[in-house]
Amino acid sequence: MKITRISVYQVDLPLEHPYWLSGGRLKFECLDATLVKIETDAGIAGWGEGTPWGHTYVPAHGPGIRAGIETMASFILGLDPRKVLEVERAMDLALPGHLYAKSPIDMACWDIAGQAAGLPIADLMGGGSRTPRPIASSVGAKTVEETRAVIDRYRQRGYIAHSVKIGGDVERDIARIQDVESIRKPSEIVLYDVNRGWTRQQALRVMSATEDLNVMFEQPCETLYDIAAISHKHASPVSVDESLVTLQDAARIARDGLAEVFGIKLNRVGGLTKAARMRDVALAHGIDMFVMATGGSVLADTEALHLAATIPDNNCHAVWACQDMLTVDIASGRGPRNIDGHLHLPETPGLGVHPDEEALGDPVAVYR
Ligand code: MG
Repeated sequence: MKITRISVYQVDLPLEHPYWLSGGRLKFECLDATLVKIETDAGIAGWGEGTPWGHTYVPAHGPGIRAGIETMASFILGLDPRKVLEVERAMDLALPGHLYAKSPIDMACWDIAGQAAGLPIADLMGGGSRTPRPIASSVGAKTVEETRAVIDRYRQRGYIAHSVKIGGDVERDIARIQDVESIRKPSEIVLYDVNRGWTRQQALRVMSATEDLNVMFEQPCETLYDIAAISHKHASPVSVDESLVTLQDAARIARDGLAEVFGIKLNRVGGLTKAARMRDVALAHGIDMFVMATGGSVLADTEALHLAATIPDNNCHAVWACQDMLTVDIASGRGPRNIDGHLHLPETPGLGVHPDEEALGDPVAVYR
């Protein structure tokens, strides 16, 4: 089997509500999505998606994905997409780094490999759990009252896991954590996501003030150096996502005990092939995981769900459904959707969901 054609589409995905990250530091209203269709001489086509969470969140850029694919296309055409390691090496040779540009290609290749094998991607990767994965909400509110209102809105849609965005204002952060903990139900999973919003002293002040509540924080500071510097001065479990980019990051975090949880973002780390290695590093070191897209449609959510299904149930806390935050649905309701706050693994071979091609318009680039 050979890759014969790569078609690239650009789609705007508007958010239903304007979204503020970490206490109003960054605002998001529309995501720039890149959809990639890879066709083969065997008549099987696979789809991939790369949708950064805007351009100000982490170093990833919608137009950068499309430019990266232009650079890599001639290295990928003619390869067997089922040999994902060969495709990965070809992309790394063509364009060192730029992992977010590689993930949609990797995803489309896994989709093709799954269809060719007659297996969902998770089963092709070694076996997928059918236990539905809780979806974590994304609570981008600012005040105590708004936080309660947003959590209520999610609870009404069945959500039992919440990622509450904090950071930037010590007193307000402490008040919001104390309030959420006071209304938290025993079955609920709550992660306080700082999105790099604290300096070291801010982190230590909030963590010490809330120590008796035994809560978990995600990405408390900008870098792994900052997180390492405070790691012996507080007692709170820490999740790292934005600073988890390469396998070397994963190895360092595990070796130095910088986090108890990995937040693996598929597009951020370069796709399923690279993320699966991080999963194994985590499992070998007693590190649990959240798995998510960096943003995007049901396709990106489904990719993350396949990886989440390859993690033992007890080690996978939650996934994310960015699709629930969008006003546009490129797959007309198909694929894994929120059912009582959970996503269920699709049984269809490959990814398990494809977009409506007509809804995407004409491709912005075709390589053959
Ligand atoms: Mg996060």
